Amino acid sequence: EQQVETTDIIIIGAGPVGIFAVFEAGLLGLKCHLIDNLDRPGGQCTELYPEKPIFDIPSRPQVTGQELVDDLMTQASPFKPVFHLGQQAEALARQGNGHWRVTTTRGEIIEAPAVAVAAGAGSFVPKKPPYPRLGEFEEHSVDYAVHRMEKYRDKKLVIVGGGDSALDWAINLAPIAGSVTLVHRREEFRGAPDSVQQVLDLADHDGLEVIYGNITELQGDGGQLSSVQVTTLDGVVRDVACDYLLPFMGLKISLGPIAKWGLNLDRKHVEVNHETFDTDVEGIYAIGDVCHYPGKLKLILTGFYEAAVMVRTAFKYAFPDRKMARGYTTTNSEIQERLGVT
Ligand code: FAD
Repeated sequence: EQQVETTDIIIIGAGPVGIFAVFEAGLLGLKCHLIDNLDRPGGQCTELYPEKPIFDIPSRPQVTGQELVDDLMTQASPFKPVFHLGQQAEALARQGNGHWRVTTTRGEIIEAPAVAVAAGAGSFVPKKPPYPRLGEFEEHSVDYAVHRMEKYRDKKLVIVGGGDSALDWAINLAPIAGSVTLVHRREEFRGAPDSVQQVLDLADHDGLEVIYGNITELQGDGGQLSSVQVTTLDGVVRDVACDYLLPFMGLKISLGPIAKWGLNLDRKHVEVNHETFDTDVEGIYAIGDVCHYPGKLKLILTGFYEAAVMVRTAFKYAFPDRKMARGYTTTNSEIQERLGVT
C-alpha cells in the first residue's frame, strides 16, 4: 500500500512565486506541499542568477536572487511548507472525491483539492551526455543528482563536468567513495575558483584523480557499469573502473509532463482567467511565469500578486463553507495568530 500525503494546495514549482503562494495560503489557514525538480527551492533566481542583484522588487532597492529566496523562505516558514525536491511532478489524476492526486518521478503521492502550477518556464532537467549505451545503464549506474551520499560509500565513482556541481560533488564524495575520478573535457574549469583549488589539491594528494578528456565508451553488463573508457586530450585511451557515473553537464529547461495534463496551453504557457487564475480545469490554477493572460507582465512582482489572488480562488473552491479571513496583516488578529506574531 503506497503512502499518500494530503494537503490543501499542491504547488508545482518552488520558484519565488510558488514559495510566496505558501505565505499567502498560510494567511488563509491553508497548508501547502511543493514539488520541484531542483534539489533546493528558488527556481530561476537561485539556479540562474543567485548572486545577481534584482532591482525591481518593491521596497527592496537591491536584492540578489539568493537573498530574495532566503527571505521568501523565512516569510513562509510559519506555515511549515513541505518540500518534495529533486523530483518532477509527473502525473495528475482526479480522484473519486474530486481531489487531485499528483505523483512524482520518485513515486511520492500527494492529494489535495487544489493544485497550483507555478512551473516557470518548466522544470530544470539535467542535460544528458551523448555516450553510446547510456540508456542501458541509466537505471542502476547513472545518477544526474545526488540524493543520498551514503549510496556511494566505498564505490568507484566517475564524475563528469567542469562546473560547480561536478566540482562540489567531487570534493564532498571523495572522503566517502572508494575512488573518485573527475573527467572534464577541457583543462579549465567553470566553477568557483575556491572549489577548483580544492579539487586540484585533492588530486595532488591521491584522494581524487582528474582526467582531461572525454568518455568514449561505457562498459558493463545487465545495466551495471564496470568501467568507462576515457580518451584523454592527448589521445590516450584509458579504462577507468566505475560503479556509478555522475554526469553534471548543466541543466536545460523543458515544460515536461505539464504539457500532457490537458490544460489549455498557448505555446509553453498555461492560459488562465486573470481575475481568478483558474485554468480551464476545475481545481487547477496557474501563476507566475508559466501562466498567460492578456497583458501578462512576466516579472516576479506580478507573480506575487497572482499568488495572492489564486489562493483566495482556491480557498472558495475547496472550502466553500469556511469563512475566509479578510483584512490586513497589520490589524487582523486571526491572521496574526497564524503568523505567530501575537
Ligand atoms: P521559476 O523561477 O521558473 O520556478 C519554477 C520552478 O518550477 C523551477 O524550479 C522548476 O524546476 C519547477 N518545475 C517546473 N515544472 C515542474 C514539474 N513538472 N515538477 C517539478 N518541478 C517543476 N524578474 C524580475 O522580476 N526582475 C529581475 O530583475 C529579473 N532578472 C532576471 C534575470 C535572469 C538572468 C533571469 C533568467 C530571469 C530574471 N527574472 C527577473 C525573471 C524571474 O526570475 C522569473 O520571473 C521568476 O523566476 C518566475 O518565478 P516562478 O516561480 O514563476 O518560476
